[in-house]
Amino acid sequence: MHAYPRIKKQDPKIYKMIEREWDRQADGLELIPSENYTSPAVMEAMGSILTNKYSEGYPGRRYYGGNEFIDEIEQEAIDRTKKIFGVPYANVQPYSGSPANLAVYVATCKPGDTVMGLNLPDGGHLTHGWKYSATAQFYKSVPYHVRQDGRVDMEEVRALALEHKPKLIWVGATAYPYQYDYAAFAKIADEVGAFLAADIAHVAGLIVASAHPSPVPHAHIVTTTTHKTLRGPRGGIIMTTDRGIKKDAELASRIDKAIIPGLQGGPHNHQTAAIAIALKEAATPAFRSYGKQIIKNAKALADSLKTNGMTLVSGGTENHLILLDLVPIFGAGGGHFASDALEAAGMTANKNTIPKDPSSAFYPSGVRIGTPAITTRGMKEKDMKKVGEWIARAIHAIQEYRLPEGKDARVAYLAQCKKEIFRNKELLKIRAEIKTFCKKFVLPHTAR
Ligand SMILES: *Cc1c(COP(=O)(O)O)cnc(C)c1O
Repeated sequence: MHAYPRIKKQDPKIYKMIEREWDRQADGLELIPSENYTSPAVMEAMGSILTNKYSEGYPGRRYYGGNEFIDEIEQEAIDRTKKIFGVPYANVQPYSGSPANLAVYVATCKPGDTVMGLNLPDGGHLTHGWKYSATAQFYKSVPYHVRQDGRVDMEEVRALALEHKPKLIWVGATAYPYQYDYAAFAKIADEVGAFLAADIAHVAGLIVASAHPSPVPHAHIVTTTTHKTLRGPRGGIIMTTDRGIKKDAELASRIDKAIIPGLQGGPHNHQTAAIAIALKEAATPAFRSYGKQIIKNAKALADSLKTNGMTLVSGGTENHLILLDLVPIFGAGGGHFASDALEAAGMTANKNTIPKDPSSAFYPSGVRIGTPAITTRGMKEKDMKKVGEWIARAIHAIQEYRLPEGKDARVAYLAQCKKEIFRNKELLKIRAEIKTFCKKFVLPHTAR
């Protein structure tokens, strides 16, 4: 790696750490569905002089001087967001997805108001009202759930909404292999007078590529991260739709006020420029095929996993991610074993709960796998066949492990397993095979 000569000279300790992370990203298969490899142009913007400027406020209305050019950059990011998603208003200042969501609460609810979102162990996000999130401490959270097949239980959503009359309903998730029925959510939200916020953090890139339905015709508010399938810098965007303006003419300005002065100070201008650049990339035909390929790859990977003896929640996928149900292999609570085995074998994924998990959020029984990052590397369906084989081989290599009862026994057993897993010959063999395989697929930042 020769990309950061000044860091190398000035701070060799940090340089060494970055260098090792660089190699880790290059040598293994990145299967975490919320991760991606962004473009060198986006990274240039993130490392640009724009980081030096304070610009509290919005284009044309700033508290600080010297914002002539920052105004242009932010306005361009806003205009590109409006165009690509087809919305009348956008706020591009949220530092990331979680602050974007918090701003939606501040804009639409008073502390103590009732809100609804998908329960976290069912695939929902922390910020949709999970009990340990600030969103459940400041607001009354009434979570809804998925059915045994993993689909949102729309009958439950409607019954809970009628009973609790929420001010705000979230649709969106972080571990959900299906598409969302945005129209059904909108109907329920209208019935009880709630705001409907669609959180498209995971699927924004698929939506832009027309590979997933858009919530814009149905929701009042749409939030997203910019660093997942959208493949930009870390960041967040909040959009207000025509329906949102129709419900509340002040909604967009309420959202702007919720960001500043409500929650944030100065926007991260380097990030704003990088978002604008990512949106230009996302508007290209190449990105369109990328988004479609993510889904083709996810389906091919799901098929390969099933062929190789794995069980999938929902039996497959309608988007970019797959949930492995590991109960048939390890019994309850095998997520740790599988994610450690995958890591030892050169594949990064995360343990995750499955619908009606027989274990707990702390010792979940599944693993979440996604194709956005490996698709960016240029992998296609035939490569997914191999990836599926490696995943299955890695999990089968340690299939004798069982999660013991009792907290202390678990901690000791898992530590012992982890040691064994990182010395396991079969897993080390897979790791070497994957490292060789990965050399064929360049990363955007090493492409010439
Ligand atoms: C990732 C994610 C977020 C939060 O994004 P951060 O940038 O990590 O704060 C919010 N909602 C959903 C559905 C997500 O998947």
